Amino acid sequence: MIALIDCNNFFASCERLNDPSLVGKPIIVLSGNDGCVIARSNEAKALGIAMGIPFFKIRNVVRKNGVEICSANIPYYAQVSRRIMRTIAAEGFPQEVYSIDECFLKVKQTPVLEDWARELRQRIATDIGIPVSIGIAPSKTLAKLTTYFAKHYAGYKGVCILDSEEKRQRALQHYPLEEVWGLGRRNLAKLRRNGVESISDFLAMPREEVVRLLGTPGVHIREELGGEERIAFNDKDIRKSVSMSRTLLHEISSFPQVSDCVHLFLNSCCRKLRKEHLAARHFGIYLASNRFRGASYQSCYKDLHLELPTADPLELLPYMNALLQATFVPEVKYKRIGVYFGDLVPERCASHLFDTVDRYGRGRLFAAIDKLDSRFGAETVHIASLRPETLLELSHASYRREVSPEAMAAVEDDSPYVSPRFDTSQQ
Ligand SMILES: [Mg+2]
Repeated sequence: MIALIDCNNFFASCERLNDPSLVGKPIIVLSGNDGCVIARSNEAKALGIAMGIPFFKIRNVVRKNGVEICSANIPYYAQVSRRIMRTIAAEGFPQEVYSIDECFLKVKQTPVLEDWARELRQRIATDIGIPVSIGIAPSKTLAKLTTYFAKHYAGYKGVCILDSEEKRQRALQHYPLEEVWGLGRRNLAKLRRNGVESISDFLAMPREEVVRLLGTPGVHIREELGGEERIAFNDKDIRKSVSMSRTLLHEISSFPQVSDCVHLFLNSCCRKLRKEHLAARHFGIYLASNRFRGASYQSCYKDLHLELPTADPLELLPYMNALLQATFVPEVKYKRIGVYFGDLVPERCASHLFDTVDRYGRGRLFAAIDKLDSRFGAETVHIASLRPETLLELSHASYRREVSPEAMAAVEDDSPYVSPRFDTSQQ
């Protein structure tokens, strides 16, 4: 069986952990540069504040209802997350940390499974202070669905188990098609165009039709809904990609400004790759204008395959410039920028006989830079051409709440837990 442990309103719950006076009040958490709502407490959801809505659209509702506003504090949320994941890991089951606020466990079906889940949920609530929902089912897709019930129906008290054919059938009848994990908006639209409105419609489609519309992934989703495990369980903690994107405070339209932002993201992603002893073979850049400006909206993604995997920003600069030249349009005002690294491999595979880069020397250079950064903060050492305005453009947060030392200490690493991803001795 697969258990999914999902934190409720995670970012909002973290803010409450830091400031208990927020308990019971409506809270929203805003994305970088206070652009959009990325988390809501139940009270804020009840006011009709939608996920992802731009902040400027809900200013009135916020003011009228005394909604508490928080600028996202991802480093703090990540610290809370590590504490939770470690507590769960101590249960001894294979664990896949799926995102900052949820993880899968491979558990054994026993008569005491429900008691175990309730006890774990209680312990996370009392020891750490974060409410979670737990769904247990035969596949990941069903575990997602089961967690939805655990979260949305008070009767389950946060834990729901799908352990019989009858329960599975009943759950599928009451679950909205658009909530099915992995379907995505585009596939959903394809299904709707073909008259598929519910999960039972989806299950009734001939297999060839599913292949034609959604490909093999669609078939796998359907088999998972049938209770078969088709989506691999990644308890080795293998990262598939590293990316970074931000909505900017202002729109920018000059090439050097855009290039600076991309450069900064590139540095940051490379730092993350090096920290995890990884190198990338795939690199992409994403540029978009303001999507709330209607018809003039433009977005463009361009990527390339690197001959040799790398996590070295100096080596990537010429590629970055080439991609930017191909992506950048002078008339467009850019509002959202991102970079993507994929096709990751362990860093030591990153060389060959005719390699012209001094990887040993570069390795030592970046080890020194990373050390300075971890001691004095990110971007202590950066490329000299980078303008300070660019840094400001990316770090605006009007509603950031200080994390008290007590709140930080409460979620501090209290054991030398090492994620397998960081454990170089195993490589
Ligand atoms: Mg969650």
